[in-house]
Amino acid sequence: MYGLILQIISFLFFFLIVVIYFSKKRIRTVETKLYSLLIVIQMIGILLDLASTSLALFDPLNPLLNPISKLYLVYLICISLLFVYYTIYISYSQKKSIEKKHFYSFLSLLFLLSCICLSLPLFNFSKGNVVYTYGASATFTKGVGAISYIVMLFCIIRNYKDIKFKKYLPLLAFVLLGVLGALIQMIYPEMLVITFTITYVTFAMYFTIENPDMKLIEQLNIARDQAEKANNAKTEFLSNMSHEIRTPLNAIVGFSQALLEEEIPMSAKEEVKDIIMASDNLLEIVNGILDISKIEANKLEIINTEYQLSKILKELITLTKTRIGEKPIEFKTNFDSSIPEVLYGDHTRLKQIILNILTNAAKYTKEGFIEFKVSSVIKDDICRLIVSVEDSGIGIKPEKIDKLFTKFDRLEVEKTITIEGTGLGLAITKKLVDLMHGKIVVQSVYGKGSKFTVALDQKIIATKSPVEVEENKIEKEQITFVGKKILVVDDNKVNLKVATRLLKSYKVEVETVDNGFDAIEKIKNKEVYDLILMDDMMPKMSGTETFKKLKEMEDFRIPVIALTANAISGMREKYLELGFNDYLSKPIEKLELNRVLIKFLK
Ligand code: ADP
Repeated sequence: MYGLILQIISFLFFFLIVVIYFSKKRIRTVETKLYSLLIVIQMIGILLDLASTSLALFDPLNPLLNPISKLYLVYLICISLLFVYYTIYISYSQKKSIEKKHFYSFLSLLFLLSCICLSLPLFNFSKGNVVYTYGASATFTKGVGAISYIVMLFCIIRNYKDIKFKKYLPLLAFVLLGVLGALIQMIYPEMLVITFTITYVTFAMYFTIENPDMKLIEQLNIARDQAEKANNAKTEFLSNMSHEIRTPLNAIVGFSQALLEEEIPMSAKEEVKDIIMASDNLLEIVNGILDISKIEANKLEIINTEYQLSKILKELITLTKTRIGEKPIEFKTNFDSSIPEVLYGDHTRLKQIILNILTNAAKYTKEGFIEFKVSSVIKDDICRLIVSVEDSGIGIKPEKIDKLFTKFDRLEVEKTITIEGTGLGLAITKKLVDLMHGKIVVQSVYGKGSKFTVALDQKIIATKSPVEVEENKIEKEQITFVGKKILVVDDNKVNLKVATRLLKSYKVEVETVDNGFDAIEKIKNKEVYDLILMDDMMPKMSGTETFKKLKEMEDFRIPVIALTANAISGMREKYLELGFNDYLSKPIEKLELNRVLIKFLK
């Protein structure tokens, strides 16, 4: 009687699960398909169990009892093998060793074992209200069950670490409860607990690993991981591409700059200047793509250092004037005298933000004026910089303002088609301002002009500037370092030529090698240099490795500058951390080179 009650409860529970499971939307994976099969077979099993127990109770001599008992044994074989298959699948599917053909072999095995079970003799007799079965068929089923348990245990123990533990919990429960169930069955044959146990485990699986909602989340996580991987691959690709583009650009800019210093006809000089401008534009685009991909991969860091605002403003004015060129535009500047001179923040990004809106003003204004204003609001040691750029340009339609900060979106395509641009500038600007916890606002009257205002908080370091006079000198005069010797290490022959050419104007002696081994060899042979410029990305032995080897040498004191075409922000910090004395990015900028040479050769 107890057995019958257990089975009826099993059946009711199970019926509920089957209804919920099949009425819910689910994703189709091998695991869920196996689970569907599992619950269908379990349902049949419960019905068979119910039928045989009822017959034994109420009509023990019914001739149907024997075939039903046999079918019940087939069910036991099926469910054991399915559990084994399921366990093997979740244990090894990550390793991709389970294929479709294995499933057919599994079905064939199932069929074979079921036939054997059906063809073997089975006897039953009833005593009290219990039907006892015995004979070869029953023994065979027990054997299959035992082997299944062993295989499952083996899988669980072996792969326990590889797979998330929670996936195994119900299966582990199945094995343990199964053993317990078998023991109980042996002691109290009238308690039919096997079907109940299996039902219980299948039920537990529903709430842990086979719940359609959880499966969906699992799939979403997998998809998210894949998307993340793809995004990282994209960033990696862009970073490599930018490196590849920068290397030839380095040659173009370097040689053009060198040409400008030669005695060449005036007309050629103009063309050379155009080459430099075009290269600078290309470099800007490459940097823009690199920046946006970095920002999207959350890899763009804000690097705060001390800086002089006036220096940056001066550079910005020069750059904007070049950009305006011959256009009839009055460029007005208005800087608040109360702005502290030395601030703390990311000056590279600050400059990039302001330059972007200044360049846009210059690009989208035909005539009239551009006003560049900087004021500040000071509170304690924080200075809120308020930068505004107003122009009398083409203006922006009110309905287009929302789209202004999305990448690749260029407004007024008909009007701006002749103005070069990628639509990346403001997207980057907005993201940078956000990263620096600032604000950017746009006011514009279509056809009349626009005003971009940026507010950014920076820390105050000093209110007066300590070194201003020296700066201008560096920019104008050609400085020389007669008698100094520099070693340049770069695997690219053209880069070596460019560096030699650039350094020539400083009247220094230059030696070059195209790999790290030769550089080390030279130092070992006691050659003396005042400075080493070391490219990082070299085959066989990178610049960083070469540098480490040099550092290990006794009394090695020569300053080493890292040289790289990898213009990702944070690179400078990375190289300084590695122990390099400074960092130069390719294409080498004349002003940067000046700075480094003055620092280490003077
Ligand atoms: P790009 O200038 O490379 O096209 P931006 O992201 O810098 O990309 O600008 C996006 C668009 O916003 C521009 O194509 C232009 O239509 C509009 N825009 C930006 N600044 C101004 C401005 N000062 N005046 C008028 N239109 C502007």
